[in-house]
Amino acid sequence: MSVRDEEHIELRVEKLLADPEYQDNPLRFALDELYTEFRGLLRQIDRITRISDRYQSVSIAEKLSVTDRYHKQLRQLEKIARISDRYQSMMRDLNEALKEASTRDALTGIGNRRMLMDRVKIEMARAERMERPITLALLDVDRFKAVNDAHGHEAGDKALIEIARAIESGIRDYDICGRWGGEEFMVIMPEIGATEAVVVVERVRNAIAGLNLVAGDISLELSASFGIAERRNGESVSDTIKRADAALFEAKRGGRNRYEVAT
Ligand code: GH3
Ligand code: MG
Ligand code: MG
Repeated sequence: MSVRDEEHIELRVEKLLADPEYQDNPLRFALDELYTEFRGLLRQIDRITRISDRYQSVSIAEKLSVTDRYHKQLRQLEKIARISDRYQSMMRDLNEALKEASTRDALTGIGNRRMLMDRVKIEMARAERMERPITLALLDVDRFKAVNDAHGHEAGDKALIEIARAIESGIRDYDICGRWGGEEFMVIMPEIGATEAVVVVERVRNAIAGLNLVAGDISLELSASFGIAERRNGESVSDTIKRADAALFEAKRGGRNRYEVAT
């Protein structure tokens, strides 16, 4: 039955009910009741359809908003995780930088006295444990005050940077060098005794003496003196360093630009 037919029936029924000719027909009452019932049912169906439609659209909207909220929260969590990751890696970098700064000499870029003390303790303890030799050398730049006085502090700084490079170039891969303080440096030479250390030290001494440094148009003549001390059995770190220092003093006394091995 099409919509047109339905309308047709309704119209026909309404006409019949309105026709005075059937006013007293008993079937007219029954038809009237049936028609009223029918209209009521139609209205009810209409209402249910509207409620159902509304319910469906509301539930779709709710579902959407739940998913939306989920995705939104997910995005927020991701953002927080990213920030936290970045923060953590920043902290890590900062820690590295702090550690680096606390063990590195700002001027020359090589290890500082703190690093040297840490490493000398570790290396000497290992030498003792493994019953292996280890030798220390202390180096002091000769007449460095005169360099500063004649060419200025800045030229002196530049010279110290070059000296650090020369030391690095002269030592072996397993040796450790650092700035002990001022114009003094230390070289830690694991696995070798004084005789072999002399070879390393002579290489470093020649590298420093061979530096081609200029201040303005004046070339700088630089040299350094060395004190060498091989660790003695059962000796403390500070005692080995003391002997290296005493040997350095002897090298200075002996005319500079030379080494002396501690007895
Ligand atoms: P010696 O041969 O006896 O060692 O003589 P010296 O002049 O090197 O010894 P002294 O201890 O009298 O002087 C050391 C000089 O090193 C004095 C100081 O100004 C200089 N010095 C120390 N640290 C630095 C630095 O970081 N930069 C510069 N430019 N000079 C420094
Ligand atoms: Mg000195
Ligand atoms: Mg000096």
